[in-house]
Amino acid sequence: MQYTYKQFLPIRRMSEMIWKCFRCNLSFKDHYLAEMHKNISEHSVTKVKSIVA
Ligand SMILES: [Zn+2]
Repeated sequence: MQYTYKQFLPIRRMSEMIWKCFRCNLSFKDHYLAEMHKNISEHSVTKVKSIVA
């Protein structure tokens, strides 16, 4: 077999969205956790793009 189906797969971006609290300098991978932090501390949590190595 010369060719694989690999080349037909969509390119996976090595980045994902995270939520960040700039006040605490914390980042949340989970939207649920970000919302929880927002509610508890009343900080504003910003959705940012995170590059995953
Ligand atoms: Zn915070």
